[in-house]
Amino acid sequence: MDAQIKFHKEFDGHEKVHRFFDEKTGLKGFIVIHSTKAGPAVGGTRYFPYKSEDEALDDALRLSKAMSYKCALAGVSFGGGKCVLIAPDSFTPKTEAYLNAYAHELLKVKDIFFTGEDVGMKQNDIEALALVTPNIIGSKAKAGDPSPWAALSVYYAMRGALQFADKTDSFEGKKIAIKGLGKVGMELARLLHDEGAELFLADTNTYCTEDALQKFERATIVPPEEIHKCEVDIYAPCALGREITNHTLHEVRARIICGSANNQLDTPKHGEMLFEKGIVYVPDYVANAGGLINVVAELDKMGYNKNTVLEKCKGIKETVFSILKESLDRSISPNQVSDERARAILL
Ligand code: NAD
Repeated sequence: MDAQIKFHKEFDGHEKVHRFFDEKTGLKGFIVIHSTKAGPAVGGTRYFPYKSEDEALDDALRLSKAMSYKCALAGVSFGGGKCVLIAPDSFTPKTEAYLNAYAHELLKVKDIFFTGEDVGMKQNDIEALALVTPNIIGSKAKAGDPSPWAALSVYYAMRGALQFADKTDSFEGKKIAIKGLGKVGMELARLLHDEGAELFLADTNTYCTEDALQKFERATIVPPEEIHKCEVDIYAPCALGREITNHTLHEVRARIICGSANNQLDTPKHGEMLFEKGIVYVPDYVANAGGLINVVAELDKMGYNKNTVLEKCKGIKETVFSILKESLDRSISPNQVSDERARAILL
């Protein structure tokens, strides 16, 4: 690992940073391992048009640490890792040679890192990688797409937050804003709409918003830059990270923030500021753990068991309730509570 990385602002004792570049295919990125203390590291592969290598590294350092915390609170014996691939732009499809070159990078860390889908990666990409390297999770023949499970865990996390805030976990008549109608956001919208919620939806991709209008009777489309300002019961960031910043924090009018996006808080301090404003923030890595729970289930020695995955996802409601209660009792923010719990397990 380059010694300079230890001085990176997001460095947190990460065990490994593997940078790779293949001139022929244009493959460029980082595999970052935060911790393997509890077991091999797991974390999705993100394919995104980062503006610079530093932006990509920053994301990988933050996301891999969040994966360690997510594993700790989800009660699975794995550590945190992440791979970020620097896409040339949002439109160029990945070639077979590109995926093959990436699979060969993954082979180099096959004993310490398992990866699967994240933003910009499709199920077909995962299938292609799995033909070359064994450290792929979430292929069709095994646990499959983690996104519906991530949506389900956010749904249960919301129920935990509603139970805490309103003493009832019903979605009937609740107003919920969702930013990002991709694999997770759209499924979350479906679950909430089925239970009587009124939806406010945003996506930069008009195909997604048009699709949502076809699917959901009680849905209003909101411009992406306005969605966090909606006066709703719950705001669910389901696009990218750094959603709560100095700028947006003062514009949020939701009572609860609970979504799937990783690293929603610009810094932990922003979680404390939300707490001071009386907004209930459900730590992202607690809420979205369903995807992780599902993919690591295929590594279970006893084999993949869908019922066990379902029960663990349901359990997130209780975890969220207990974090929010401890936050109230100790007068500290929910993200402080969950970070403390995760660090206690990781040490
Ligand atoms: P996705 O790529 O399928 O969907 C993301 C959606 O957000 C896309 O439709 C995109 O157009 C939209 N978007 C991007 N920028 C936007 C903006 N500024 N405003 C509005 N919409 C915007 O990704 P996904 O798999 O649904 O994941 C969504 C989030 O949840 C990510 O942060 C991801 O890391 C996190 N997550 C995903 C999983 C999973 O299993 N897929 C698991 C845990 C966490």
